[in-house]
Amino acid sequence: MRAAVIAGGVGGAKFVKGLRAALGPEDRISVVVNTGDDMWLTGLRVCPDLDSMMYALAGMNDAERGWGREGESERVSAELAEYGVGWPWFTLGDLDLGTHIARTAMLQEGMPLSEVTDRLCARWGEAFRAPRTRLLPATDQEVETWVTAEEDGQVTEMHFEEWWVRTRASARAQRFVQRGVEQAGAGPGAREALAEADVILLAPSNPVVSIGTVLGLPGVGERPGLPGIPGIGEALREAAVPVVGVSPIIGTAPVQGMARQCLEVLGYDCSAAAAAQAYGARAGGGLLDGWLLAEEDAAALPALEGAGIRARAAPLRMRDETTSRRLAQDALELAAAISS
Ligand code: GDP
Ligand code: CA
Repeated sequence: MRAAVIAGGVGGAKFVKGLRAALGPEDRISVVVNTGDDMWLTGLRVCPDLDSMMYALAGMNDAERGWGREGESERVSAELAEYGVGWPWFTLGDLDLGTHIARTAMLQEGMPLSEVTDRLCARWGEAFRAPRTRLLPATDQEVETWVTAEEDGQVTEMHFEEWWVRTRASARAQRFVQRGVEQAGAGPGAREALAEADVILLAPSNPVVSIGTVLGLPGVGERPGLPGIPGIGEALREAAVPVVGVSPIIGTAPVQGMARQCLEVLGYDCSAAAAAQAYGARAGGGLLDGWLLAEEDAAALPALEGAGIRARAAPLRMRDETTSRRLAQDALELAAAISS
């Protein structure tokens, strides 16, 4: 079985770990990872979602803090702060900086991000074999998500990570822009992974700034959409296999993070049903054939079915590898039911 997953960072990584546990050693997983959060910081190329995914799959992530490497120290960033370099509110751990330095060195040798990512993952060897798991940056070009936001009565543009980490999404966001998207193309292997997959899964990642920035969001009526990385949304729409998404939202709140503010910018409520609506049914030009939502949101099932999305209720909280594996199995079962 070849599974293709579209994912952001932390929520995506928990799901891919579960999928890895649910599949056999001969299976293959291709993860098309959001690169919209990437940025230049202190002279280094930082790729938050690729790193969250790589560290989690390698078992080297700090699960308690929710980001970065386990057993981290912060001597270098303390030193950088003394020089007034970087963002004081965005801490880069020493081990994490090692990744960014290595990545930047390879980029400067002329290697594209996709190849750099393969090289970085190769370090963790076994973790990415059996089932073979490949991380595919959504694009090799620099396409960054910027936010037009109102802060202290002033409208400014800031990088998504600044809006997220410095303002904790408190600056009132008006719109998201994917800077550089017009000149970009799908990363090598991303479209092929979708074309060759037996199943396509949308991880329970942020539907707007993790999945939407990769696949594009249709935008309905007055609601703005997102362009997505050219070619990837099209490849998903053309795929002859089921596309199943998992809700990152339970009840009226995301399991963690700020998906509510992101959905509101596009004119949606924060609910599992609204997230599915933002993706749209593939039958109607959207992205989904199937959708898993939490048991407490089961009341939304008939409306989704009516909108052409095969929806099912399942336990959605990924507390450990067992619950993550079960969620991945439920997604695969829904895909199998759609196929037959
Ligand atoms: P980020 O890029 O690091 O912000 O991570 P993602 O975009 O991949 O994932 C963020 C989303 O994951 C948030 O909207 C969370 O609600 C969702 N999430 C985190 N943990 C869980 C979980 O255990 N279950 C589900 N269903 N969603 C989760
Ligand atoms: Ca992210």
